[in-house]
Amino acid sequence: DPIVVWLRDDLRLNDNPALAAAAETGRPVVPLFVLDETSDGIRALGGAHQWWLHHSLDAFARSLRGKGSRLTLRRGAAKGEVLDIIAAVGATALYFNRRYDPAGRAVDDRIAEALGEAFDIRRFTANILHEPEDVQTTTGGYYKVYTPFWKKLAATEPRDPIDAPAGFKQPEDFPISDGLADWALLPTKPDWSGGLATTWTPGEQAALERLETFCDDDLAGYHAARDDPSANRTSGLSPHLRWGEISPYRIWHTAQTYASRRESIPDDAIRTFKKELVWRDFNVHLLHHRGHLATANINKRFDAFPWRRSDADLRAWQRGLTGYPIVDAGMRQLWQTGWMHNRIRMIVGSFLTKDLLIDWREGERWFWDTLVDGDPASNPAQWQWVAGSGADAQPFFRVFNPITQSEKFDPEATYIRRFVPELADLPDKAIHAPWSATAETLAKAGVELGETYPKPIVDHKAARERALAAYGEVKG
Ligand code: FAD
Repeated sequence: DPIVVWLRDDLRLNDNPALAAAAETGRPVVPLFVLDETSDGIRALGGAHQWWLHHSLDAFARSLRGKGSRLTLRRGAAKGEVLDIIAAVGATALYFNRRYDPAGRAVDDRIAEALGEAFDIRRFTANILHEPEDVQTTTGGYYKVYTPFWKKLAATEPRDPIDAPAGFKQPEDFPISDGLADWALLPTKPDWSGGLATTWTPGEQAALERLETFCDDDLAGYHAARDDPSANRTSGLSPHLRWGEISPYRIWHTAQTYASRRESIPDDAIRTFKKELVWRDFNVHLLHHRGHLATANINKRFDAFPWRRSDADLRAWQRGLTGYPIVDAGMRQLWQTGWMHNRIRMIVGSFLTKDLLIDWREGERWFWDTLVDGDPASNPAQWQWVAGSGADAQPFFRVFNPITQSEKFDPEATYIRRFVPELADLPDKAIHAPWSATAETLAKAGVELGETYPKPIVDHKAARERALAAYGEVKG
């Protein structure tokens, strides 16, 4: 009898335990993807997500065809669709890889309940390195602070990745599938995806190639170069991980293999890289244990925080027109490419929540809509970290100064010049804070503040005082 393998955020053949286990049985396999926008609590995909998902499904469907199989696509509430496919093909087993958001888990449980105890359901660990149940504090709770979490796991070697199945046995008939094009996931009017398409190639093949290139070229200098936004020397694997086009086990082991073969890769580099991968797990565990990460403050005191509402300021931030070049460069990188460098995410996050005093949830939502790697765990968890409302947050009074951050992390303004070209002719000394340049310097660079580039929408020093005063109200 056929096995239905329900794919979700694991669109890969390599190291896909559910698919591998199904193939191994020698029974017919029916791979299924359901675009679920209606089940309770399931968060609608953002625009950049939809673009990525379209191309990712297209690539995955082709890979499956290459193995003699076919991807069935359905759109609707997952429970109905999955049960329908099981009935249509006469399947007696359902395999899937675990997911960790409470709403998704609840859907999985409802399906299991509907199928009954006798039905063969198998859940696999595929997308994080450590299951939440396996990582507990000495008192049996979950970790709310990252450093002890890392200390506990640093020495734990995750299992080896599993090879892609050689092929799949086909069912007598594949079920009727939706056409991917009919889902209309790609933007049309207007089509804003040009910058995404020139930056990214969704799909497993591209993800594996990116991993090799990163390990070859950039892993050795990772610990030093990862904070340089202009260098493009981080892995760029985040959107591939978001959709599970590559597994964290594959990444971990490939990086480790390179590091043990090459002396040029120092311990610091591999340790720092692994630490980031484990940070991803940490965020997933938080989501698993807490749920509602994107809507509820982890630190309840922030429920009383006097956030400002200003649609004009929010819009200026979203469009990269705040008058602070490093912030604007970041917001434009996000809009053009669907991605932003980690250091800059922290700077624009601090600017929104502290300089503009706008609720972190507004920033989280904008990122969710525009990031290709917008992640249900890492996006809200990192926003709460930046805002100070997280469990393991940087303290609220740590207000980034956008000018000194800019001078420190983009000293030659390569990053600013790339994304804010109207300032490109300003000298290095003036470009981080154009408003303090002389009229002559501005004129020579063709910059007219308020015309060719905005004046700053807030004064950082005053905004900092305002933020600290607001924080004083909830500090308790
Ligand atoms: P690399 O430096 O090559 O790191 C390798 C992998 O480690 C990444 O792909 C990612 O999976 C993981 N990683 C790295 N840094 C972090 C981190 N701080 N937290 C969790 N995992 C990390 N990351 C997302 O994947 N999705 C998001 O939606 C997201 N939103 C963020 C929002 C804010 C406000 C901030 C400050 C950070 C956010 N991050 C998010 C974390 C981080 O910025 C990105 O993971 C990283 O920039 C991705 O680029 P990379 O793949 O080249 O990273």
